[in-house]
Amino acid sequence: MSDPQIEKLLIVQDRDVALQKIEQELARIPQERNALEANITAEQANIEAARQALKEKEVERSEIDTEVKAKESAIARFLTQQLEVKKNDEYRALTHQIEQSQQEIAELEEREIELMLEIDTTREAFEAEKAIIEARIQEQTKQIAQLGERENNLKASVDEAKANVEAARSAADENYLGHYDRVKTLCKRPPYVAQIEAHKCGGCHLRVSNEVSSGALLAGEPHFCDQCARIVYA
Ligand SMILES: [Zn+2]
Repeated sequence: MSDPQIEKLLIVQDRDVALQKIEQELARIPQERNALEANITAEQANIEAARQALKEKEVERSEIDTEVKAKESAIARFLTQQLEVKKNDEYRALTHQIEQSQQEIAELEEREIELMLEIDTTREAFEAEKAIIEARIQEQTKQIAQLGERENNLKASVDEAKANVEAARSAADENYLGHYDRVKTLCKRPPYVAQIEAHKCGGCHLRVSNEVSSGALLAGEPHFCDQCARIVYA
């Protein structure tokens, strides 16, 4: 490299790239954090849904209990009434009602036994699943805390990286720096200052003209790739 100004620009570029990396990493942190938080919310919703399903079964069971008790007191009532009725058909009607209630109680109790088994299985599955999910939530919460730490570290590095860029810029030539800044707005990604090798620009990898190729060897003024407009040197 024959142009000392290019050397200075390369230092500016190195430090710019270092700063960009830190800034890009910083910019990704909110997304990473949102994704983790969304996961945790979804996991908690899953636990809550399972808890709710279990609760519904328990409510159903207690409703059955209430229903059984109501039918038992109805039977007691029918039995008392039977002591008081005089006519045979009234007596038989009450017997029929008693038998019907007993039948209904038997059915309810059968359902209750099924339900108790279901509740046991569901509760076991729920407790096991809940432990796994809670461990995941804990892990994700830890990751969020680590992200916070990384964010703080990166923020501290940004200031240092900016100061480094400024120091390199103040050492560079203003004319070169102006072109460098212009190229930076034109090109989406570094390098902004590219080396020509085997007649190819190190930025766009296209062949440059002979004029650019030989010009790039000369110091004193910046030269540009005729394909991508990057500053080139040889
Ligand atoms: Zn180029």
